[in-house]
Amino acid sequence: MDSAVWASPKPELPCAACRTLHRKCSRDCTLALYFPAGEPEKFASVHKVFGASNVIKMLQMVDQEKREDAVKSMVYEANERLRDPVHGCTNAISYLQKCIQDLQLQLKRTREQLQEIQEHSNHLLTVLMDVPYQNPVYQL
Ligand SMILES: [Zn+2]
Repeated sequence: MDSAVWASPKPELPCAACRTLHRKCSRDCTLALYFPAGEPEKFASVHKVFGASNVIKMLQMVDQEKREDAVKSMVYEANERLRDPVHGCTNAISYLQKCIQDLQLQLKRTREQLQEIQEHSNHLLTVLMDVPYQNPVYQL
């Protein structure tokens, strides 16, 4: 007998969320797209920090096309909160805000230097234009 005839179709694995919540994962599971079975740690961290019902509520508040980014943000925030329970992702945000401030200050100084160089260049051009023409050939 052909073994393929006897092989039953492999049942699809439940998504990581349904597996964690011990519920049946349907084909139209709203979480399956964002928490695939192969990445159980993603849902585990958001479930631990936010709670499954809050994750679902937050996803429902977001437009469909922005849900993947929302999940990425939730996973990042949850992982940071688990890593640093006191500050969470605020350290990273503070660091990035400081970087932005430093770069804005650097940009301002560079623009000021560029303005000074431009003014100096304009001044030199003005001086050169005022110098009378000098014949390089000596006249005897
Ligand atoms: Zn599911």
